Amino acid sequence: MERILKSIGRMIAVYLALLGSILSAAETSRRPNILVIVADDLGYADLGYQGGADIPTPHIDSIAACGARFTNGYVSGPYCSPTRAGLLTGRYQQRFGHEFNPGPDGPAAVGVTEKGLPLSETTIANRFKDAGYVTGIVGKWHLGSSPKFHPQNRGFDEFFGFLGGAHTYFNKETATILRGKEKHSEPSYLTDAFGREAVSFVDRHQKQPFFLYLAFNAVHTPLEADDERLNRFAAIHEDQRKTYAAMLSAMDDAVGNVLKKLRESQLEGNTLIFFISDNGGPTMRGTTINGSINTPLRGSKRTTLEGGVRVPFAIQWKGHIAAGTVFNRPVIQLDIQPTALAAAGVEIRPDWKFDGVNLLPFITGLKTGTPHETLYWRLGEQNAIRHGDWKLVQYDLNVERSPTTGVSQKKLYHLSKDIGESQDLAAEYPDKVKELEALWQSWKSELAKPLW
Ligand code: CA
Repeated sequence: MERILKSIGRMIAVYLALLGSILSAAETSRRPNILVIVADDLGYADLGYQGGADIPTPHIDSIAACGARFTNGYVSGPYCSPTRAGLLTGRYQQRFGHEFNPGPDGPAAVGVTEKGLPLSETTIANRFKDAGYVTGIVGKWHLGSSPKFHPQNRGFDEFFGFLGGAHTYFNKETATILRGKEKHSEPSYLTDAFGREAVSFVDRHQKQPFFLYLAFNAVHTPLEADDERLNRFAAIHEDQRKTYAAMLSAMDDAVGNVLKKLRESQLEGNTLIFFISDNGGPTMRGTTINGSINTPLRGSKRTTLEGGVRVPFAIQWKGHIAAGTVFNRPVIQLDIQPTALAAAGVEIRPDWKFDGVNLLPFITGLKTGTPHETLYWRLGEQNAIRHGDWKLVQYDLNVERSPTTGVSQKKLYHLSKDIGESQDLAAEYPDKVKELEALWQSWKSELAKPLW
């Protein structure tokens, strides 16, 4: 009798162990990996899927083709660091004073001795780490270069890349690339190196859900490309555009290598992939002009016109988002964090104070309506608000190569009829101007003073 009971006990134990491993496998398979790919200073018109004709980008295009592309995708900042602060926190960066790039120039506010993403803010990496994910960043950080702001002190388990806002692509001698906190001498073209490191991250973490932030510095200046890629664009005769094309092509190759690795590791179906640019193409004087094109948008990086803040924006999650989805209502990079956390089954708490929302139910049609009735921008004296199809904006006059500096008068545009912001309707619709102005003022009253 005792033997029978013992053997039943053993069978139950084996059964429970089996059940446990099945459950944990199911649990694991339910929790998707997250890959956030950010391009730097990419023009609105330059990807194949955005209508570009002279630079093939089949791999980036495949993200849009296999998932959803967003025709009204925005970022909350018209240049690098503020956009990244918004992306990593899911909050308008002006709420915590991260309105401008933390460059070495310019005074900081009283009490601010080092510039970087304020330590009061929790990052997407912190949250995924708390949820049991392994977290990594490959590429450009640009959220503070002193030790307390280092990515590995902001929720990332692994870091390969550089801390500043721009970097040479041929790095043999300069050695400001870090692996973790150690200096690393990189022999490869930097975009190739970032692709290689992202592939390696996926390879090393196949068995555990991961969050990978792949932040290319391509196609930000300096304009540097390798001969093999330059040779692909013999048909482009203008030097700047040719080099830009080669740099973008290198980034597309790197994205292709990461996608291939996911496929080969049978992780593609269980990986939620985002692709955005951190701001529009720099085309006006005073910006890091790189040969990018923003048509049909008007404006440039560093402006609150559409050319500064409307960007290529695509999401792929096979089996969850139908291939070829086109989403036309406004979304913003602040949505990436809540979307990714929701996909991972993390409950979003009201005290996190996200400005972004989970996009998945909108993309799949579970929720009707629009993720954002209103979106807001401020960069110093420049500002903008989009409410429905209406936009009220004051932008940097440099964009018009005007001899006057400063910002424009308040202009009112109807974006669905006038994506190129060419027809100012402010005089015709004074009540609309008042309505949008009041909404923007109300948002502004919640903001902090810029920290630097
Ligand atoms: Ca940028």
